[in-house]
Amino acid sequence: MRKTILFFICFLLLPSIHVQAEDEMEETTKKMNLYLKQQALTQIPWYYYAAINQYENNIRDNDNIIAMEFEEMTWYGPLNNDKIPHPSVIEMFGGIGKDGNGDEMAKDQNPEDILATLSDYLLKYGKTEQDIKIALWNYYQRELTVQTIINIAKVYKEMNQIDNFKQAFPVPKGYNNSYNNTWGDKRGFGGRRIHEGTDIFANYGTPVRATNTGVVELKGWNKFGGWRIGIRDVFNRYHYYAHLNQFTEGINVGDIVKAGEVIGTVGSTGYGPPGTSGKFPPHLHYGIYKDDGKNEWAFDPYPYLKIWQRNAVD
Ligand SMILES: [Zn+2]
Repeated sequence: MRKTILFFICFLLLPSIHVQAEDEMEETTKKMNLYLKQQALTQIPWYYYAAINQYENNIRDNDNIIAMEFEEMTWYGPLNNDKIPHPSVIEMFGGIGKDGNGDEMAKDQNPEDILATLSDYLLKYGKTEQDIKIALWNYYQRELTVQTIINIAKVYKEMNQIDNFKQAFPVPKGYNNSYNNTWGDKRGFGGRRIHEGTDIFANYGTPVRATNTGVVELKGWNKFGGWRIGIRDVFNRYHYYAHLNQFTEGINVGDIVKAGEVIGTVGSTGYGPPGTSGKFPPHLHYGIYKDDGKNEWAFDPYPYLKIWQRNAVD
């Protein structure tokens, strides 16, 4: 009886998992088609549209295929109280909403209308990266946001895709390592700061790999972290690797690093002026910070490390 029930549960579950994967693929294709259509209309490369929308997706809770949202007042015009969606009426009221799907209405929930409105906004500034940076600055008024979007665009351009990014455990197979859930432990140095990350203990010289694909945002010495490097991925997550013995030669701020790529080696640097080493056993301190467009906060990498280690192929 139990087996029969189990069989039926599996039978019911399997097709739904299959459908879900197909839905995701379909959504990616839909998004890409929307971006490419804008590129064809404006000559602004598709990856800027993709990056802006991904950033908006990262900071919002909606499930919309185009996550970007404009304030109703900005879209329809401050005195367009009835939200009349005809482009000529919107324009008369000083709104910015545009019709993108050709139905002669500009609706603030329609994906194509949103992108057409974004295009219209961007074209006021121009089509070069510098123009787009200025447009983004004026829209978001936040340095980290502009940098994040430009970096997401860089990754999309380089990878020539918007999903299916791999993830990796930071220590390659075949190297001894151990780690525990040390989230929130007190630090030995630097007063009352709590431990925001996971310490992966390994021998000196063990390769350290990027867990996610992203762009190097920071590299250098820090009194606590020693030689450390920070990489931001396309999900507004900042991955922090500290106490390194050395960096991989040639890695610099602004470079794209792919998941699984070696970025340095395990060491015990930190807790003093540049070059200080050996004040504690060698380990990789790994932290993840999430940015919601206003604030950045640390979250516990331990459960992710467990998954990446379990799924590791090399
Ligand atoms: Zn640590």
